[in-house]
Amino acid sequence: MLGRLNIGKHLAAAALVLASQLATAADRAHVVVLATGGTIAGAGAEAANSATYQAAKVPVDKLIAGIPELAKVADVSGEQVFQIASESFTNNNLMALGRRVSALVKDSKVDGIVITHGTDTLEETAFFLNLVIHSDKPIVVVGSMRPGTAISADGALNLLDAVTVAANPQARGRGVMVVMNDQIDAARDVSKTINIKTNAFVSQWGALGMIVEGKSYWFRKIDKKHTLTSDFDIDRLKELAPVEIAYSYGNVSKTAYEAFAASGAKAIIHAGTGNGSVADRMVPVLRGLQDKGVQIIRSARVWGGFVLRNAEQPDDKYGWIVAHDLNPQKARILAAVAIASGYDAAALQKAFWEY
Ligand code: ASP
Repeated sequence: MLGRLNIGKHLAAAALVLASQLATAADRAHVVVLATGGTIAGAGAEAANSATYQAAKVPVDKLIAGIPELAKVADVSGEQVFQIASESFTNNNLMALGRRVSALVKDSKVDGIVITHGTDTLEETAFFLNLVIHSDKPIVVVGSMRPGTAISADGALNLLDAVTVAANPQARGRGVMVVMNDQIDAARDVSKTINIKTNAFVSQWGALGMIVEGKSYWFRKIDKKHTLTSDFDIDRLKELAPVEIAYSYGNVSKTAYEAFAASGAKAIIHAGTGNGSVADRMVPVLRGLQDKGVQIIRSARVWGGFVLRNAEQPDDKYGWIVAHDLNPQKARILAAVAIASGYDAAALQKAFWEY
């Protein structure tokens, strides 16, 4: 009799524990980690190898299993979308990743998305998603500057912080974010400013916030169109328009510009010196290309500031476009999305002011 009572007590206690565990799992946000490769999934031969290693080696399950703390902040699941270094990303990779993110944000069981990514083109992917994903659910792109095998590797904390932000309801509606080095940055603003160092990602207009010991501190919101307010939508986009970047310098020649146009580029981002300036002898070349239907978009090779319309060059007279504060690689993303969506030169210029 006594024994039966004890068993009953034990069963009741076990049921309570199970119920509380189930309740916690239900309370916790569900965050999906989409892994694409990069240094955050990199491995070196020795712990001292912080800069010599192979990117895109460690699978997503191993990345997640390596950080038990993740289970405390969210119910985390992983998907290996690609396993590549980010310099090898193509437009097809962007479209495939965008489609997967778009499908996941429509799933009511998913509260947030984290994308692990190489740092080289991380800002391009983050900005692309910022333009084409229609959702206010937190989408966070994260990378690391050192592989997980290195002493003082930065990936584990970056990934924990990224999942923590993605699980946070306060992060909703802020556009796609990049979380690295304790900082929360807006996809449109942030860019990689240095190699080797762990504080590589900087936003010239300042970060959105900070994340320290699992708590997010918010300082500002982005004023530009993004995600839910964007007119672009991955679900309506078949492919990206071919847009190329031509880098300018003293003694620049027309070779690259003409080759890009001949290969079918719909727009050329002029990564100009200073204020997106154009060498005298290059003006007729660029005007000639524009007459043939290639949009000329003046951006700048300098970090920071922005290109002023009708300063340095009479853009109104030539029908050229300025990229405003977007760097050449981000200008390429916006132009590729906008031209694929049927934007003409005037609509394209408006987009560069708005996004
Ligand atoms: N080349 C690497 C990549 O972009 C660098 C990194 O991830 O930090 O994939």
